[in-house]
Amino acid sequence: MALSAVIEADRVSSALCDQPPSGAGHNDAFSFWKLPHDWKSALESTIAESKAVAEYYLFEEYLAREDRRPPSRMQAYYRIKNLIPAVLRHRLNSAAVRMRGRRDFPHWPFETALTDYWRDWMQLSLRSVNATDGWHIGFWPDGLKCCIVLTHDVEGPLGMSRMERMADLEERYNFRSAWNLPLSQYEIDWKLIDRLRLRGFEFGAHGLCHDGRLFRSESDFSALAPILQELAHSHGLSGFRAPSTLRRAEWIGKLSFDFDCSFSDSDPYEPQPGGTCSVFPFFLANLVELPYTMPQDHTLIHLLRRSPTQIWAPKARWIESLGGMILTLVHPDYCGSGRNLKEYETLLKQLSEFESAWRALPSEVSSWWRRRDQMKLTVDGDGTPSIEGPGSERAVARMLSSEPLAR
Ligand SMILES: [Zn+2]
Repeated sequence: MALSAVIEADRVSSALCDQPPSGAGHNDAFSFWKLPHDWKSALESTIAESKAVAEYYLFEEYLAREDRRPPSRMQAYYRIKNLIPAVLRHRLNSAAVRMRGRRDFPHWPFETALTDYWRDWMQLSLRSVNATDGWHIGFWPDGLKCCIVLTHDVEGPLGMSRMERMADLEERYNFRSAWNLPLSQYEIDWKLIDRLRLRGFEFGAHGLCHDGRLFRSESDFSALAPILQELAHSHGLSGFRAPSTLRRAEWIGKLSFDFDCSFSDSDPYEPQPGGTCSVFPFFLANLVELPYTMPQDHTLIHLLRRSPTQIWAPKARWIESLGGMILTLVHPDYCGSGRNLKEYETLLKQLSEFESAWRALPSEVSSWWRRRDQMKLTVDGDGTPSIEGPGSERAVARMLSSEPLAR
């Protein structure tokens, strides 16, 4: 079946389950590339279709509807989770993942379906406007070529006790990171958080706790979301990541956060497997979605029993080669000491050597992606580009031929 037919059939069923609108910004290919405004009328007929194709991937619409929500078997797991020692739990999870088998799509650790689509659309568009090259608004501010975002979820007191040590290490390589906290799972040392904030680190909400309840049912969501939001706002947290990345896109879109990081580009190993196929931000209702694009430490160390560097190094290079967003998810609980911390340092060293990379906090990327979406590119008669709109002083027009993603 042609992709467009698959999308159409799926859209009809999606309409019944309140699929998230892209809301605050645009996910179509013209807006992704930010091409010259006077090309828009010539490309108009392809723009609506490109949004449908992109969101088919971005909102995981290629999955059956029941696979776009937390699996029901998780309820039984959460009833007994706290009775199982952590070491045994990792072993059981590892065995369960192996038995489950992997889907063919999205491919792991690299999936090119959406990047291929962006490139093909661009090539066809150049032909439509009789051009071999053209300007676009660069994906990142100041003409930088890729983006690096470091994030952590702090799963328990052990992780919290290791935060400063990890933060010291990141500072040594001139990085700052974002830490997501489950707001009612254990006692949070807010004085420590304040100290790290003063050093330029950022904090987000990792739900209330890892009990699988937030997105389990409409009544759970209605009861818990207001508590979560109030707690998060009282602590000045504007970002969200769902505990265990158990998620429902249409409900995340209803949360009053600035951005979300609950989706991956490709992660077949989470309790709710899937992936957006995107190594760039996108819009999810009124939120900016920042998918994590590097495999989780927990997956590599505990489930696959692999050395993280073996997977992290080529994945980071691949995203950098596309000019995309390298967004890590590393837990201080698992990677905050010993050999695993050394592996994390190896990653930081590699990332610090990427030239022309924007080292940004999630809130900065969210703000940039919203502003870039509002900008307008015009090219005057002698071919000089100019960019208008909020934040345009940091935007740089780049030739498509200089973008690896376009070639
Ligand atoms: Zn977590």
